[in-house]
Amino acid sequence: MEINRNITETNFNKGGSVSRIKYIVVHYTGNDGDTAYGNTVYFKTAYRGASAHYFVDEKSIWQCVDDKDIAWHCGTSGKYYHKYCRNDNSIGVELCSRKNGDYYFYDETVRRAAELIRYLMKLYGIPLENVIRHYDVTHKKCPAPFVDSKEWEKFRNRLVDKEDDEVTDKVTMKVNGKDYTVNRILKDGKNYICLADLSKAGFTVGYDSKTKQPSLSNSVSKVTARIDGKESDIEAVNINGFNYCKLRDTAEAVGSFTADYENNEIIITTE
Ligand SMILES: [Zn+2]
Repeated sequence: MEINRNITETNFNKGGSVSRIKYIVVHYTGNDGDTAYGNTVYFKTAYRGASAHYFVDEKSIWQCVDDKDIAWHCGTSGKYYHKYCRNDNSIGVELCSRKNGDYYFYDETVRRAAELIRYLMKLYGIPLENVIRHYDVTHKKCPAPFVDSKEWEKFRNRLVDKEDDEVTDKVTMKVNGKDYTVNRILKDGKNYICLADLSKAGFTVGYDSKTKQPSLSNSVSKVTARIDGKESDIEAVNINGFNYCKLRDTAEAVGSFTADYENNEIIITTE
């Protein structure tokens, strides 16, 4: 895990020592499409009256305030709903959000934030019950994706689970008879292969971050078929060294038969 630094010159109070740290407070930025680094730039020199120690996005972690110093992330002039947690005894971690109607986080942002927080818990001996939301301190709806949902419980589970400690190794996998290097986790005798690696083997790999649904499909490409000296474009895929061509395209190109598909049956009619 890499923690990049771009420390603010002005948006913090001197804390003196990391022994002050008793809580970790989780936030969301409430933006759509912001980056961890961009946030540290925003807080770098101008007085903003707010700040946090860390910003996390789907690609990186950036630190904005030193752990020993006090960031301004969970203070209020209103009512505190948490007895003890305040700016001066906590670390603030902001997750960069995305918006599609509601706010949400990329999975990779959540995974990276969990990794960072596990590291900070270990470093400063912070128990799980002291990892809380901004919402728990002031009732501000922050982080929005973790308020009024089961996602917060899931996130807390990731702080104790070993799941993210699984190590991947690179193995050669035969796909349709050809060798490809893929990332793999071997667990309980089962192989878990990185889906994205299968794109190298000619599969189309997709992921819908809103529905959290991965997808995998054969890539079909257009090839030129020369039939009796005449060129035609047909859709085809190569599996195990054999070409599988779209029957309807082939029928059209050859011209002496038609192909149809109905009720799970392929119907070929010769002329
Ligand atoms: Zn917050």
